[in-house]
Amino acid sequence: MDEIKRDYVFHRDLTKKYPMITHGEGSYLIDEQGKKYLDGCSGAVAANLGHGIAQIAEAMAEQAKKAAFVHTLRFETDVLHKLAGVIGKMAPLHLNKVYFTSGGSEANESALKLARQYHRDAGKTQKHIVIGRWQSYHGNTIGALSAGGDVKRRYPYTPNLLHFAHVYSPYCHRCPYNRNQEDCVANQNWSCVTDIERTILELGPENISAFIAEPIVGSQQGAVVPPLDYFKKVRELCSRYDILLIIDEVMTGFGRTGTDFAVEQFGIEPDILTFGKGVSAGYAPLGGMIVHDSLIQGLLENSSGKFLHGYTYSGHPVSIAAGLAALDMYEEMNILQNVETQGAYLMECLVALQRKHPYISDIRGRGLLIGLELMKDANQQIFFEPREAASEKLNEICMELGGVFYPGSGSIDGHKGEHIIISPPLNITKSEVDEIVRLLDHAFSIFYQHIRK
Ligand code: PLP
Repeated sequence: MDEIKRDYVFHRDLTKKYPMITHGEGSYLIDEQGKKYLDGCSGAVAANLGHGIAQIAEAMAEQAKKAAFVHTLRFETDVLHKLAGVIGKMAPLHLNKVYFTSGGSEANESALKLARQYHRDAGKTQKHIVIGRWQSYHGNTIGALSAGGDVKRRYPYTPNLLHFAHVYSPYCHRCPYNRNQEDCVANQNWSCVTDIERTILELGPENISAFIAEPIVGSQQGAVVPPLDYFKKVRELCSRYDILLIIDEVMTGFGRTGTDFAVEQFGIEPDILTFGKGVSAGYAPLGGMIVHDSLIQGLLENSSGKFLHGYTYSGHPVSIAAGLAALDMYEEMNILQNVETQGAYLMECLVALQRKHPYISDIRGRGLLIGLELMKDANQQIFFEPREAASEKLNEICMELGGVFYPGSGSIDGHKGEHIIISPPLNITKSEVDEIVRLLDHAFSIFYQHIRK
């Protein structure tokens, strides 16, 4: 029976057999052998409250009993309005209307299309190019993949991708423009910003619809936080050249970095904010975008109030019920406080761990989104080869030891870097943080022996 189940499934790697998970309990996943895995990355930074929260499961079941499906093209549900209200209140001041999708890729796809339609219907018919960043991931659908910078994922589909432009995101620890942060600040001349302006002018502002960025880069860079003023400068450029600013909070949203949305920490308002993952704490596929009042006004004035887009499962009531229950739980558990406390403690423990394990060449992040950069020799700036071998190997060792993290690598030659992301459930306890650190300590010792072989 077990073999039959496995033989018929087609997912990412046909050559691998993964542990068969039977259930989860709090921050742990448990396989059919009874082995426990501490979920140090909340699945895919999605299961933000861990497993087995009865209130969320019950809210979903209650909703499913009411109706199988309600088509948002013709009907509304009260849960839809409630969740949109809660999210709208959390978002920056002028972002008030919420459009739901089934996940992050669809959310970004929707944002790219809304940006295009908004300009087009206002008579700016040429505006269609999106500027993204090489160090970014916005999803796997063609539009989102075109905007993102994951070279490995983009490569096979090169002929299918849209002709979007890319710049480098700020990474002061190893600046892609070979600049020094103090020098940038002292001279108020930031190459990561001037490069955006250069790109805008080269392509012609009249051709550009949007700039898209993650506030803190997740899977492609391992939780790199930009310098405080970066997004203020980006916002200023976007406004100056009539380009919409899309901030992708699919990974960072709903408390992950210590505030409801990470963008709050940079003091700007985007035109569109996309979300996914944590909104339903992983209990159901859910995502969406929150849209600035001015875009809504534009749609009403120039597009007869119609956004020419839609998915069958936009605002599926069971997913929406999961989202509503999850956001209730975040508040009830005072999750922002726990993120601050346990995030600071985890960071402190990891800094101590770095002294023991020199393969950790950088530690960065905010709240409970922390990246450990891995290098073979940080003093000599030597990377592991081949790329991703180290982070994958480290994760393999962690899994053997009963822990899961999120391996990844920087995405463009000349700007390498490997990392693992540590992003446990936001309700993690201090003793579980201790366990994560013990597990990583043990894993690095085994990894060290592996490298020396
Ligand atoms: N945007 C960011 C920042 C992400 O991290 C992800 C997924 O990892 C996505 C978009 C895509 O979301 P999904 O996999 O739900 O389509």
